[in-house]
Amino acid sequence: MDKIILACWDRDGTINVDEDDGFLGKDSNWRNKVELMPGIIEAMQKLQKQFPKLQHHIVTNQGGVAINSPGFEELTEQRVAEVNQEIIRRLNNEGIIIHSCQVCPYVDKEYVEQSKKKNRSIDPKYIKDNPPNRKPSSGMIFDIIKSRNLSVHNCCVIMFGDRLTDVETGVNAGGYGILIPSQKTHERGDIEKLAQRRKENSNFASKTLFAKDAKTAADEAIKLLSIFS
Ligand SMILES: [Mg+2]
Repeated sequence: MDKIILACWDRDGTINVDEDDGFLGKDSNWRNKVELMPGIIEAMQKLQKQFPKLQHHIVTNQGGVAINSPGFEELTEQRVAEVNQEIIRRLNNEGIIIHSCQVCPYVDKEYVEQSKKKNRSIDPKYIKDNPPNRKPSSGMIFDIIKSRNLSVHNCCVIMFGDRLTDVETGVNAGGYGILIPSQKTHERGDIEKLAQRRKENSNFASKTLFAKDAKTAADEAIKLLSIFS
């Protein structure tokens, strides 16, 4: 089989250290806070080397853009784009090609409720009912597929991330999801939640994996993807 492999990577807590609780870029000194996760460079390099038809894409929810409260004035779509460019530049310096970066600034009602509890208000223009691009919905991955004139039949999607929603996004796109735990994964109980989902649903279990870190995630992905190449 000769499929294009779309390796889709969550950003905060997966590619870069999640310093600012998912709000990297909200402070003017954000550049000093950009730090890549341990092993991520080697993992991306290894996959790129192994599969000539593999494309790396960044797929990130950036709900912080929607927050309309003191301390968040600087976190605009423009700022998020600058942060992404900086992360991509650092990856490029290591020979890693990033084919695209997909961002979802839209939030759902649940996010609005959670924000209220933290005394944060939301700009109504970013609120949508079930935003199709907000992970765990797979709209951002389908945008990649469409914009490249691919189809779900001639590509294989694999989503890497530190949240259960990242893993679900990969499965929702008809592909696979690999959880790479960060500190936040443990705090949110996402390891237990993923284990539970896998126990309840054998199809979901066959499409998802746990990895210890980025390096093992790449090794697991290579095993999985070798079927397709
Ligand atoms: Mg994350």
